[in-house]
Amino acid sequence: MFLLFGSRTSEAVINIVSFVCGYCHTMAEQHVVKRSTRVTLFFIPLLPLSTKHVNVCARCGGSTSLSTAQVRHSLEWAQANRRL
Ligand SMILES: [Zn+2]
Repeated sequence: MFLLFGSRTSEAVINIVSFVCGYCHTMAEQHVVKRSTRVTLFFIPLLPLSTKHVNVCARCGGSTSLSTAQVRHSLEWAQANRRL
C-alpha cells in the first residue's frame, strides 16, 4: 500500500482597487489575490499549509506581498467606495 501526498496552491481574486503601480508607475487596477496552499492526499486538498495575500498589477503583472492589515484596509476601502 502506498500513499500519494502532495500540495496544491489555489488563487482567488478577493478585491480590485485602483492606484498608481510601483512597477509601471501607471494608474491601473490592482488585484488583491489570496494564495492558499493545501496538503493533498491522492490529489484531494485536505489541510491548509499556508495562506498569503499579494497585490498583482493588471497592467504589468508586478506583484507585492500584502500584510493582513493591508488586505483588511483594501476591503474597507472598497466597501466605502462602492457605487450603488
Ligand atoms: Zn504595474
